[in-house]
Amino acid sequence: MKFAPARSGLRIGLVAGMAVILVVLGLLQYRWSGQVSEAYRERMQVSLETSAAEFRQEFQRELMRICLAFRLGSPAPSKADWKRYAQLYADWARTSLHNHLVAAVFVWDAAPGHSRLMAADAARIRLSPVEWPREFTESRKFFEARLRQLWGVPNVDVRFFAWSLDERVPALFHPLLLPPDRDTQSSRYPKLVGYLVVELNMAYIKGTLLPQLAKRCFGGPQGFIYRVQVTAGPDSSDILYRSEPPSSAANFYPPDTEINLFGPLPHGALRVALEEDLPAADQTTETAGKTGPLRARPLILPVTERGLWRLSVKYRNGSLDDAVARLRRRSLTAGFGVLALLAISMAMLIVSAQRAHRLARLQVEFTAGVSHELRTPLAVICSAAENLADGVVSAGPQIKEYGELIRREGRRLRSMVDEILLFASVQSQKAVYNLCPVDVREVIDTVLAGASSRLREGGITVEKSIDPALPLAMADKTALGRCLDNLVDNALKYGGNSRWLGVRASSESNGRVEEIQITVEDRGLGIPEPELDYIFEPFYRGSGATALQIHGTGLGLSLAKDMIEAMGGRITVVSAPGEGSAFTIHLRNADRPHEQADTSG
Ligand code: ADP
Repeated sequence: MKFAPARSGLRIGLVAGMAVILVVLGLLQYRWSGQVSEAYRERMQVSLETSAAEFRQEFQRELMRICLAFRLGSPAPSKADWKRYAQLYADWARTSLHNHLVAAVFVWDAAPGHSRLMAADAARIRLSPVEWPREFTESRKFFEARLRQLWGVPNVDVRFFAWSLDERVPALFHPLLLPPDRDTQSSRYPKLVGYLVVELNMAYIKGTLLPQLAKRCFGGPQGFIYRVQVTAGPDSSDILYRSEPPSSAANFYPPDTEINLFGPLPHGALRVALEEDLPAADQTTETAGKTGPLRARPLILPVTERGLWRLSVKYRNGSLDDAVARLRRRSLTAGFGVLALLAISMAMLIVSAQRAHRLARLQVEFTAGVSHELRTPLAVICSAAENLADGVVSAGPQIKEYGELIRREGRRLRSMVDEILLFASVQSQKAVYNLCPVDVREVIDTVLAGASSRLREGGITVEKSIDPALPLAMADKTALGRCLDNLVDNALKYGGNSRWLGVRASSESNGRVEEIQITVEDRGLGIPEPELDYIFEPFYRGSGATALQIHGTGLGLSLAKDMIEAMGGRITVVSAPGEGSAFTIHLRNADRPHEQADTSG
């Protein structure tokens, strides 16, 4: 007892410590989940941008394959070599995986006065003059203007020698150069004399190439996790490809990442092609300063603003930020769920530890109490027996008195031992109840008859009120008798000086249930409100009982509760200190066996 405050202080300290740890863990979890989500978001963003760059690279690589496939070497030695383009076209059609990407190949000899367009015939390996197809009207005007601009101009801008994409057809244009004239002023520069025109198959780009690339770069085992879109035009109004069905109102704005498909590639993958296609003079130090580093220049330049092809990618369910926020919410819920579980288990642990602690204390008190209780009748019996044996008592009335004393104390001893044995059997679930319709009146009469000598000795007035039409109750007769006996015994023990005992039995409607209620009432000590929660616990003895040294084991009510509940009923108490107590047993009506007694009391 001396250490109890220190121990409870330690307990409170431990609980507080654990609560603090939980709160700190919660805060750390919150912070870490923030950092982890941020890192995850960055990783996703980087991987998304990498995929977009890969898409651009793959796309440009396909076009670059065309550029590389139609390379004669620059400058071409003479116009006569141009027919080799037909052979290159045939080779391309035979070997390329995406051979449908090219719809037609033309050689445009733009010499002033002799301008003519020749179609490359891959089957017969020759160039044959053709009329300009109608879809080239705008392109032709554009490149004629460019030709006029560059005709005989010595200062060559490298941009004009790269491949150009005119999306209006669409077609790739590549300048055709002839070696510099030895005799003229601008002898250091090759001459621009026309264009190689590679007409692209837009239906193939839209229907095969872009979907294939999108699938390769953004597809997963369960389909697309991103929405992918390729558009043309400065305001992205012309949709070339969408991973979603065109009917879906997928909103791409704002995209998680957006990239110009003709933008520069991150490495010198296209450099070889560029360098080879450049006029020899452009590689001198004189022009290098004007053109800038070759590495940064894209190979294919769109000729109009509409030629800007844009790849937009957005996370499928909302945006990447939404996805990361959702992930964070999920991980926080899981984390806090685990912490809550931990807190609940800790609380349960504390409650059960307290309970076990209290039970252990009660058991110690019980052992001490029972030993004391056993000793008193044993001592009385022993001394009475000694007096009788030694002949101290010899007269008839005295012997009778001793006999009664021994019988009373013996009974007390037996009832205590019985109670302990019964408790052991109820606790080990060995008790078997034989439930059948029981006449409660009969049980009450038997119990009162059994207690008659105690009632008589105590001069107790018994007020019995039993409903004459009381239905049978569903119960085990012996167990019910024990419970009632216990309640009557308690009423006598704690009845004080009132010398009054009330026993009532009636059939009551409790909500929708019709039940039998048996009440044992006294006008004695009563039970203080805080103790009402504990009196049905094993080994618990009230303050009044211990203060007045009223004998008992603290098992009676616990046993009564267990037994009544095993019979499908319940036991309730109404009590006020100094006014008395009323214990009521609620049992099922045997006439309505399917109705459950209300066990919520
Ligand atoms: P015991 O009577 O052996 O102490 P019980 O389990 O029967 O054990 O009762 C537990 C406690 O409930 C008692 O110690 C007493 O404080 C209180 N109690 C039980 N019945 C009454 C009653 N009729 N009037 C006042 N207190 C009671």
